[in-house]
Amino acid sequence: MFKKNLEKLRAYDPGPSVDRIKKKYGLKRIVKLDSNENVYGASPNVRKAITQDALLPELYPDCQNTELRYELSRRLGVKEDRFLFGAGLDEMIVLISRAFLDSDSSMIMAWPTFYEYYCHAQIEGATTKKIPCDKNGKHDWQAMLEAIDETTKVIWICNPNNPTGTYLAKSELDQFIQAVPKHVLIVIDEAYIDFVTAKDFPNGLDYLATNENVLVLRTFSKSYGLASFRIGYAIGSLPVVEEIGKVRPPFNNPRLSQVAALAALKDNCFKDACVLKNNEVLSVITAFLDKKGISYYGTQANFIYIKVAEPKQVALYCKKKGFLINPFQDGVRVTIGKMDDMKCFLQILEQAIFETSAEPSK
Ligand SMILES: *Cc1c(COP(=O)(O)O)cnc(C)c1O
Repeated sequence: MFKKNLEKLRAYDPGPSVDRIKKKYGLKRIVKLDSNENVYGASPNVRKAITQDALLPELYPDCQNTELRYELSRRLGVKEDRFLFGAGLDEMIVLISRAFLDSDSSMIMAWPTFYEYYCHAQIEGATTKKIPCDKNGKHDWQAMLEAIDETTKVIWICNPNNPTGTYLAKSELDQFIQAVPKHVLIVIDEAYIDFVTAKDFPNGLDYLATNENVLVLRTFSKSYGLASFRIGYAIGSLPVVEEIGKVRPPFNNPRLSQVAALAALKDNCFKDACVLKNNEVLSVITAFLDKKGISYYGTQANFIYIKVAEPKQVALYCKKKGFLINPFQDGVRVTIGKMDDMKCFLQILEQAIFETSAEPSK
């Protein structure tokens, strides 16, 4: 009855709601450190803009995102016709997969990286090559190059990478892009670029002028704190943007999402303040982990990947204490929260590691 490709997939499991968790463990408060949302909220401009906006519920939204497109174009120095908008980057990943992948093709991604790349390649019936990150949690870009063959249509570079927080430096990405054949689309997912402080971090937009096969992804969900509005965008060459545009549902960004994104964009102060606080808290976290001898990957994002022996048990322990974090294969990914919350969390994490390392693994 169903598409055969769905057999190996599971629907996204958000887990029990915050209210459920509170009730179950008798908690007064839950600190969400599991989705890399902006813990400082969104710009006050956003609230103002959406409450003042005429709602016009009966009209379809502007399918071109005209005002937002104009403002982004001006700020980023990219022509207006090079943008493509999606209901978050989640939808952009669906659209890219839809436009490029089928059962005769393959794509290359790092592992671990953002799961949605894998999921939508599966749905399209494409072959997926997962190239393990190196021992520092970085994309092994040389191995990714070696994996290219005549079936390769798309390569995903998540920079900084979710969940490891690591990044490819400019010199590395330069060499990588140079070596990838021009018929392969290189998608650079820069969901976390605003948090980056490393001086040698490459801006994906710099590759667009000379590489028609590069597509850069950005979102309002993380640094701008608009995850609930579902709005993100891709920037690429005309041929690429036009082809993907064919599979895009025309009215995929509600009017209020466009209004919210525009208001957020016009308040750089808010975003910059969040990034500053993020870095302050990060230095407290890394100082603590260093002191305790707990290993982690160096991060350029608003989350950190901490190595633990029993990720699932550590995450469960923290959940019972009111902190939601995400377990992965050999560590946990933790959103960098507010200072007070994180000081509290670090104590609990230390206990969790101590308690769970004494138990046999399950
Ligand atoms: C959060 C995230 C996205 C998706 O963000 P949207 O909310 O759908 O815009 C895409 N890529 C990465 C790497 C992410 O972490």
